[in-house]
Amino acid sequence: MKVRYSYLKQQFDDCEDLWQKLREFVPTGDFTLGKPLTEFEGRFAELIGTKHAIGVNSGTDSLKLSLEALGVGPGDEVITAANTFVATVGAICAVGAKPVFVDCDDTFCMDVSKLEAAITPKTKALMPVHFTGYMTDMRKLMPIAKKHNLVVVEDACQSILGALDGRNAGTWGNAGGFSLHPLKNLNVWSDGGVIVTDDDALADKLRLLRNHGLADRDTVVLMGHNSRLDTIQAVVGNWIIPKTKQISDQRIANAKFYDDHLSKLQQIRIPPRPSDMRCVYHLYIVFAERRDELLKFCVDRGIEAKVHYPVPIYRQPALAHLGLREGDFPVSDAHTTNIITFPCDQHLSPEEMQYVVDTVAEFYRG
Ligand SMILES: *Cc1c(COP(=O)(O)O)cnc(C)c1O
Repeated sequence: MKVRYSYLKQQFDDCEDLWQKLREFVPTGDFTLGKPLTEFEGRFAELIGTKHAIGVNSGTDSLKLSLEALGVGPGDEVITAANTFVATVGAICAVGAKPVFVDCDDTFCMDVSKLEAAITPKTKALMPVHFTGYMTDMRKLMPIAKKHNLVVVEDACQSILGALDGRNAGTWGNAGGFSLHPLKNLNVWSDGGVIVTDDDALADKLRLLRNHGLADRDTVVLMGHNSRLDTIQAVVGNWIIPKTKQISDQRIANAKFYDDHLSKLQQIRIPPRPSDMRCVYHLYIVFAERRDELLKFCVDRGIEAKVHYPVPIYRQPALAHLGLREGDFPVSDAHTTNIITFPCDQHLSPEEMQYVVDTVAEFYRG
């Protein structure tokens, strides 16, 4: 059996109604900041529960523009998690700030108990990453931000509809950034991103920043970027957004199936599943003994298991100038040797998931 990682073929196999919407849209020529985009932004804000949602051209730009709008720039330090995806750090570097890392814990999010030790007089912002669909402990992080007068931009790119104490990812900080990348839980047919915020002035500034700083056709009030979410992608987004809840619910159910079965194997450790958290499983990761051998065994048997990631961002060659070394973030380092990701998306069949579970069990039976 083959258990593929990407489900894009299945997802868009049967979408004649979406093609119809696109056929109706194209003759309007309303391609930039068009009506479907405004509609999508309204629906997105409603979905997350914020006053504003601003469509931009990627998840990376959602973070970059948020930092810029909040006044983060050269000379500033931004604290994020040592195990994050490159884009978080790319956004910090793009505004000229310095990334400073804090180790994660076994929920793959920043260990907030280690945060204060990383704050210096140059710290300007915190960028917690709700990695894999888990939530950073924002109950503890926000008071620290307040105490030190720091702005907070949540990297919620992997955690749409993730929540802590019933409060959604993206709604805790000054702004939250989401990605609409094809492999994210709410996806379009290209790159795309969304920023959410309750702050009117910040929303106004972000709308300027994404569109060259143009207040109107002839007035440039600040130097901005070309970072609009394509209106044609908003048509796709409007088709998918009503399914978002269903998508995360199915992923949660799939993860439960895996948890129930894999927890019976003594060589597999399931990460903590806090009851006050809604984890939406953008990635389904467990800790495995003899991980490299298990990975190979699964791949050889047609299961596209993966490792997110084998080398943490803080040890990548592009950041060598930071002078960080293996061992600086021991939990992130340990994870690189024992984490394994299995497909967990909403299009998996029960047979495919059973095959994954059986294959892992077979490996450990030897
Ligand atoms: C995907 C992702 C991003 C960036 O999103 P893009 O839309 O690909 O630019 C940022 N942070 C994290 C944690 C992500 O997973």
